[in-house]
This record gives sequence, structure tokens and C-alpha cells, in this order.
Amino acid sequence: MIRIPKPEQRREATEHLIELSGQNVKVCLQCGKCTSGCPFAEDMDYTPHQIVHLAQLGLIEELMDSEAIWICATCFTCHSRCPVAIDIASLSDAIRLLAHNEKDVGIEPYDVPAEVIKKEPQQALVSLYRKFSR
Ligand code: SF4
Ligand code: SF4
Repeated sequence: MIRIPKPEQRREATEHLIELSGQNVKVCLQCGKCTSGCPFAEDMDYTPHQIVHLAQLGLIEELMDSEAIWICATCFTCHSRCPVAIDIASLSDAIRLLAHNEKDVGIEPYDVPAEVIKKEPQQALVSLYRKFSR
């Protein structure tokens, strides 16, 4: 069930997210072009245009609890298709940051087993830490 905070709290939450992400979600047209081009939309609990809509509504708790922000692969396809140039990868980045700070999510570097560190390519590990570390 979606928890709906008071209107003033939601307005503040939207402004905070806009400042943090650098993305003016208020201009989103809800055209859905981002979702139709996203390679991972089918795997997400909230599709890219729904993520932006929740951000417009200031429903940040809902966004922090979503799986979609962790599934986003930062491929920028949505950004390239968006008529108002909203970058959902940066928006997801900002929501992940809030989730790292406000909830018990993410990993510490020592959570990754030594065998994995030895076996996996450096680029994959950097990407893992960038996305999931607190
Ligand atoms: S493509 Fe841009 S304007 Fe259209 S729904 Fe997605 S974020 Fe909004
Ligand atoms: S950046 Fe994220 S939301 Fe945008 S198309 Fe790629 S995977 Fe989908």
C-alpha cells in the first residue's frame, strides 16, 4: 500500500530530489518514451515514467523502497529519447543515495568475498561499489 504524506511534505520531497538529481521532474509529460525504450522496464516494479511520476508526486518512500532504482543500468536510453531531456539514471542515482542514507540498504566493501574480488573484472567491481556501497 502506498503511504501518502501531507501535500507540503510531498512538495518539499520533490524539490529536494530535483536539487539532488539535477533533474526537473516537474516538466515530465508522461509520454512514456523512456519506458518504451528502456531495456529493463519489464523487470522493474515501477517503469521509468512511473519513477518520474512518483518523483513528481513527492512519494519518495515509495521510490526508495522500489526495486527499479537498483535495476536501472545507467544506459541513458531514456535520456536520449526524452523530449524534455530528463535523465532517469541520475534520478535513480539520487534516490539510491537517499536510500543509502535513510535506510539499511547497500553493502560495505568487506561484504564482497575475497574470491569474488579476485575473480571479477575491476570494472565490474567499481560499478558494483558505485551503485551499492553506502
Ligand atoms: S520520456 Fe521524458 S517526458 Fe516522457 S515520460 Fe519519460 S521522463 Fe517524462
Ligand atoms: S538509464 Fe535506467 S531507466 Fe533509463 S533506459 Fe537505461 S536502464 Fe532504463
